[in-house]
Amino acid sequence: MIKIMDTVKVKVGNITIGGDSPIVVQTMCNTHTSDVAASVEQCIRLADAGAQMIRLTVPSLAQVDSLKEIKGILRDRGIVTPLVADVHFSSEIAIAAAEVVEKVRINPGNFHKDHEKAKEQFARLVQVCKANGTAIRIGLNHGSLGERITNLYGNTPLAMKEAVMEWLEMCVENDFYNVVVSLKASNTIVMVEAYRLLAVAMQEKGIVFPLHLGVTEAGNGDGGRIKSAVGISALLSEGIGNTIRVSLTEDPVNEIPVAQYLADRYDGRLTSTMASITIEGKSAIATYISPSRERLLLDFSCDFGKRLLDKELDEVELRGSYIEEGEEKTLDGSEYASYLTDELMQAARRRFYRPEYIACPGCGRTMYNLEKTFNEVKRRTSHLKGMVIGVMGCIVNGPGEMADADWGYVGEGNGKVSIYKGKEPVLRHVPEEEAIDRLLELIEQS
Ligand code: SF4
Repeated sequence: MIKIMDTVKVKVGNITIGGDSPIVVQTMCNTHTSDVAASVEQCIRLADAGAQMIRLTVPSLAQVDSLKEIKGILRDRGIVTPLVADVHFSSEIAIAAAEVVEKVRINPGNFHKDHEKAKEQFARLVQVCKANGTAIRIGLNHGSLGERITNLYGNTPLAMKEAVMEWLEMCVENDFYNVVVSLKASNTIVMVEAYRLLAVAMQEKGIVFPLHLGVTEAGNGDGGRIKSAVGISALLSEGIGNTIRVSLTEDPVNEIPVAQYLADRYDGRLTSTMASITIEGKSAIATYISPSRERLLLDFSCDFGKRLLDKELDEVELRGSYIEEGEEKTLDGSEYASYLTDELMQAARRRFYRPEYIACPGCGRTMYNLEKTFNEVKRRTSHLKGMVIGVMGCIVNGPGEMADADWGYVGEGNGKVSIYKGKEPVLRHVPEEEAIDRLLELIEQS
């Protein structure tokens, strides 16, 4: 079993994160929090599927009341899964939500630009958390680093680490340790590097807070699963990480089996179905005997993601067999084996054989059918190898979170879309029905 870093223990309702606790599997609703019935229904499905913590977006104070209602209904039905409020921008919303749910996620990049003012806001939040036994996640994303930090360190993993360390110092100053940290990015190299830097920095300081791992905007389907597995497994295999979320642009219930696999594997409850491996120089040949397509995909991503990311290996050839619909399928020289290898190379950013998609999982801020649109964008842009295309659910966080996308499709709400070229909106208020056509026209003209 891998030795997990010795961290502070964080209590989130009936769950403990960190210390010697098993890896905690969590997810997030993609319902509108104000739609209490839909949110309750989704929370129940997620809890049934095995989610140990469920996050809901809280874009305004009005949703804090909805959150209260959702929590009340769930508890009445005997569902005790801790709830997490996802708050951006407003410390007042975070403070109000901290009185209602077991944990509040804040994005420090969204707190007051003036560091002293941000400190005051945070101290007030901590007071409420202490009074209510609420935990905090300091959830920093690559796409939302503040200007002060990027001016000092660039838009880098180092900047992410530095930004978060300032906030952890504020926790210590406030004598508050019920804190989990995340440093997510869509780029697996940036994500892994940022967490590694943070793990070392916390150890040097002598206080190690538990880490929440995730690859943001990983997309959907095989690509989303492989990318998430590569980033998360690289860290878990080093004993870094205490709770995980696999973000997919799909029904969040689909995230749970992938996250559960990762938790089981790195808590030592399951092992890879790789039967043999030969390595010559920086090339490997791996043979699997796998019980399913899904299992093969995850085993392969975890066995080789880190070695490719860290450039220990340059190539890997997939052989062996897997079972699909009761039939044994051979991998030797198969199209499926080369497709999986291509996807893995892309996820580890070693070779780009198709466009790179950055798609958020969607949440209560999403005002359109994100999953359907994303699939359509993928279908119509599949020829644009190497291009980075973002498809984001909302105009509030989407543009920032798209990070290094060449082009972006960002939902504005009210059936309208903004199209971004890099960080600049080049078309606004485009009706949804025309937006993919406009995006493709712009790409062709450029
Ligand atoms: S970018 Fe996507 S996941 Fe993030 S807040 Fe907006 S809709 Fe939600």
